[in-house]
Amino acid sequence: MPPVSNSTALETLPSTGRVHVVGAGPVGLLLAALLQSMEGVSVHLYEKRQEYTRTRMVQLAPYLVADSIESYSADNIDGDSVGAVFDPGELEEGLAFRQSIPADLMELLRDWAQGFCPLNTIERSLSDLIDARDSTAVERGPAVESAEGAIAMLEPDDVLIDSTGSGSLLRDHMVPGTDGDVGANTLNIPLEHALVITFLYGQAYDCNEYCKYYKNVGNDRYKFIPAVHRTYYDGSVTHVTGIVTITAEEYEAMPPRFDGEWLRGNLPGAASSMDRFIHKITEETSGALIGDLEVVRIPLNIYRARNATSRPWRTGANEGHPLAQSPAFMVGDSAIGSPYFQSISLGFECAMFLAGLIAQRDLPIREMLDRYELYMYKQWVRVYMRSKMIKHNKDLLGCVDDRFALLDKLPVY
Ligand SMILES: Cc1cc2nc3c(=O)[nH]c(=O)nc-3n(C[C@H](O)[C@H](O)[C@H](O)COP(=O)(O)OP(=O)(O)OC[C@H]3O[C@@H](n4cnc5c(N)ncnc54)[C@H](O)[C@@H]3O)c2cc1C
Repeated sequence: MPPVSNSTALETLPSTGRVHVVGAGPVGLLLAALLQSMEGVSVHLYEKRQEYTRTRMVQLAPYLVADSIESYSADNIDGDSVGAVFDPGELEEGLAFRQSIPADLMELLRDWAQGFCPLNTIERSLSDLIDARDSTAVERGPAVESAEGAIAMLEPDDVLIDSTGSGSLLRDHMVPGTDGDVGANTLNIPLEHALVITFLYGQAYDCNEYCKYYKNVGNDRYKFIPAVHRTYYDGSVTHVTGIVTITAEEYEAMPPRFDGEWLRGNLPGAASSMDRFIHKITEETSGALIGDLEVVRIPLNIYRARNATSRPWRTGANEGHPLAQSPAFMVGDSAIGSPYFQSISLGFECAMFLAGLIAQRDLPIREMLDRYELYMYKQWVRVYMRSKMIKHNKDLLGCVDDRFALLDKLPVY
């Protein structure tokens, strides 16, 4: 049955109104910075952390600062999927929005798309930019304790945005009748378990696909696969990050983060693989490892909110509920999460699209919700195909010297 429309909900956003952004991680901060410069928008940003302490090195995808469809689609993994998933008009609209991004913010994005940067540098820079601007101040608030608390803040003219990350505050509350059941609104596809291993190396070292292969010759298990764009030389030191696949049992048996010594004592096969890989780098470039390995265990899964907005609430049956009155959206890891170092860029991309919708004050809210849902679905399709492709290629690389294992992984049709 088609949804019955909600007669009391506003048709369009008012010319002035509050937008509550819950969660000031990288994506919530970017969104707040984008909305801050829009006329009539009063941004309220809530964050539970006192300080930005996450130092892991991240990089933004160049497509975030693209200025043409060609540069937007220039991706060596799935560039050709872009034209298949997105309509030309959608791509043009996204590029037009980028042109309107204030220069202070665009400068930061361009910088981060060049090379590596600690995550907390991104967070602090965005936060400082928001506070330093002369335009309307962003109102800061503390943690929002619960989904009910977030919903209770809403007045009929407000917009609510959940950018609270993978443990999303609102994801399971976007659908009426589920009572916030965990997973009620989540499609989750586990891909593998992995160690994310980072080390510093005292010489220039650049990785390519050939390097990934031959430096792993001799590593029958626990191949260390750096992503090509995750080796970064800052003039004196190379930062290297990569992934080693482990089993679910190994994952369960280890602490969330540890160092090379722990690895040596508890997963010696993986430690030997790292030694072999790093030894081959030193043979090639005569440098040395600086300090120890930093290891984080993570499940690599890909997930999405089946409903990334409060659209399911806007039916006659739910009239009067705050989520039926005020539109709510999820962005960043709250809405979609993916492995292989691509999530921040995906989150930023979705934040830009959402800011572009909120800027159109005469756009019917129903259309705003529909367009955001469709856009998120398309982003999901793209990142799902992309992640599967990366995993598939990784699996092939893992058995390239074993002809029969390789053929097993190469069904043609
Ligand atoms: C080891 C590792 C390496 C990674 N490397 C990369 C990489 O190289 N490139 C990349 O693109 N991605 C990478 N990622 C993923 C990336 O860190 C996330 O995609 C990104 O941080 C998501 O941003 P976000 O703002 O959506 O969510 P988060 O960063 O999770 O931020 C959510 C924010 O909301 C706040 N919050 C939560 N609940 C509440 C509440 N109730 N009230 C108020 N505030 C709240 C949190 O304190 C936090 O500040 C990596 C992840 C891991 C684990």
